Amino acid sequence: MPRPGIASDRDNDPPGDRESDFDVAIIGGGSASEALLRELDGTGTSVVMFEPHLVGGECPFFACIPSKGLLHDVRTGRTWDEAVARRDELVNHLDDSEHREDARGLGATIVSATATITGPNTLDADGAQYTAAAIVIAIGAEVVIPDIDGLDTLGDRMWTSEDALTAHVRPQRLAIIGGGVIGSEIAQMYSGLGSEVTMVDSSPRPADDLHPEVGRLIAESHERAGITAIYGAQVAACERTEHGVRVELADGRNVEADIALVAIGRKPDLSRLGLDVLGLDHDDLEVDHAGRITGTGSLWVMGDAAGRQQYTHVANRHAAVVANHLTGDGSRSYDEAVVPACIFIDPPVFVIGDTYDDLSDDGDVVWSETSVRVPRFSTDELPDGFVALAGRRSTNTIVAAHGIGPRFDELSHALVIAIDGAVPIDVLQRTIQPFPTIGEILDVAFDALADALAATTDD
Ligand SMILES: Cc1cc2nc3c(=O)[nH]c(=O)nc-3n(C[C@H](O)[C@H](O)[C@H](O)COP(=O)(O)OP(=O)(O)OC[C@H]3O[C@@H](n4cnc5c(N)ncnc54)[C@H](O)[C@@H]3O)c2cc1C
Repeated sequence: MPRPGIASDRDNDPPGDRESDFDVAIIGGGSASEALLRELDGTGTSVVMFEPHLVGGECPFFACIPSKGLLHDVRTGRTWDEAVARRDELVNHLDDSEHREDARGLGATIVSATATITGPNTLDADGAQYTAAAIVIAIGAEVVIPDIDGLDTLGDRMWTSEDALTAHVRPQRLAIIGGGVIGSEIAQMYSGLGSEVTMVDSSPRPADDLHPEVGRLIAESHERAGITAIYGAQVAACERTEHGVRVELADGRNVEADIALVAIGRKPDLSRLGLDVLGLDHDDLEVDHAGRITGTGSLWVMGDAAGRQQYTHVANRHAAVVANHLTGDGSRSYDEAVVPACIFIDPPVFVIGDTYDDLSDDGDVVWSETSVRVPRFSTDELPDGFVALAGRRSTNTIVAAHGIGPRFDELSHALVIAIDGAVPIDVLQRTIQPFPTIGEILDVAFDALADALAATTDD
C-alpha cells in the first residue's frame, strides 16, 4: 500500500569508499533497523540500509506514537481538531529527516529504494547492485485484508490503521472489523474524539487468550467508552452505499457507517524479496533462535518480519540479538526474555508471559485473582484494577501476569522483572512498595498468589 511521504524524491547517500560492498545490508528502515544501527555503532561494521518510504518505519509515523498520542488526547479531553494538530506535530508531519540524520550519524549509507535479494550476498535496488557479507530482512508486516464479499468495492471508504492514524477528517460513524489490540485502541480513540464506533469481532469475548476477568473488564471499558462492541460475530459481506458502507453480519444484522476499518491482524509478506533465487520458500522459512534463516549462513530476519510478536520492543530486542551474532559472541537468543505487551485502552491492560490458554492444561500452574482498591485509587479518583497472577508450584515463581487497571502499563515493569528473574514468591512478598502508589496492589497480589500456591500444595 503506498504511503505518504514516499522517498522517491530523496537523494540516496553517495557511495562511500567501498562503493557498493558492505559488511551488512539491512532491507527496511524501521524500528528494528534503527536499533540494529545503534547496536552496530562502534563495531567498525559498514552498513547499507534500504528504505523506500520513511526511515523510522511505522512506529513513529503511523503506529505506536500517533496512536498513543491520540489516546492521551482523549483522556485530556481535547477536541478532534486539537488532537489532530498535536498528532501531526508528534509525527513531525511525516518528515523523516531526523531519522535519516540519526542513521547517517551512526554511519549508515541510506538507499531510498526497495531492495531485492539476487544471491546469497547480493542485492539489487533501483538497478544498482550491492554486496554484503550479511543481509538482514526487516521489512515489517502488512495489514491482512480478509476475503469478505464486497470489501474490495469500498475503495476509500475502507481504512487500515494507517489511514485512521493519518486522517484529517473524522468519520461520524466508524465500523471496525476486528477487536484485537489495534482495533480496540482505535475504537477508544475515535469514540473518545466523537465518532459513533461499532466494533465487530469473531471471538466470543475480548482478548480471549487472556484471563477471562481481564476480557470481561475490557468489554466494560469499551462500553464505558460508548463503543458498540459485537463479539462472536462473523462479517459476511460489505457494501458501498450512497453515503458510506454497510457491514453485513452472518446473523443478519447490519452496521451502517461512513468508513469500515479493517483490523484483523498483520502478517509479514516476504514474497517480493527474491528469496526463491536462494532456493527458499518465502512462505515456509525456518528462523533459528538468533534470527538466522535456517540453511543460510548470512541471511537474517528481525522485527515484525520475523513472524513473532509484533512490538517495537521485540523489534529492538531482535536487533540486539542479531548484532550479537554478527559482531559479538553469538550467545544471545530471540527467546532470551519474557515478552510483555500492553493494550493502551482506558484503563490499560498488560500481559506478561504465557496466555491463559497456553497454561490451561498445565497442572503445575495455579492462578490467583486480585481486585482491590489501594489508597491511590481514591486520592486520584481512579477506578479499580484487577491483577491475575499464574504461579508455578514446583518453582514457587510467577509465570504469567495479566491485568487491567489505571496506570497499569507502568505497573507492568515490576512484574516483568519478577517473571523474567524467576524471583521466588516469598522474596516478592518481602518487598516494600511505596505508599501511596498503584504498585501497592502488588503487595496484595503477591500474597494472594502465595496463598493460592500454598492451598494447592496442601491438597
Ligand atoms: C496501529 C499500531 C499501533 C502500534 N502500537 C504499538 C505500541 O504501542 N507498542 C509497540 O511496541 N508496538 C506497537 N505497534 C507495532 C510496532 O509498530 C511494530 O512492531 C514495529 O514498528 C515493527 O518495526 P519493524 O522495523 O519490524 O517494521 P517497520 O517499522 O514496519 O519497518 C519496516 C520498513 O521496511 C520497509 N520495506 C518494506 N519492504 C521493503 C523492501 N523490499 N526494501 C526495502 N525496504 C522495505 C517499509 O517501508 C518499512 O518502513 C503498533 C502497530 C500498529 C499498526
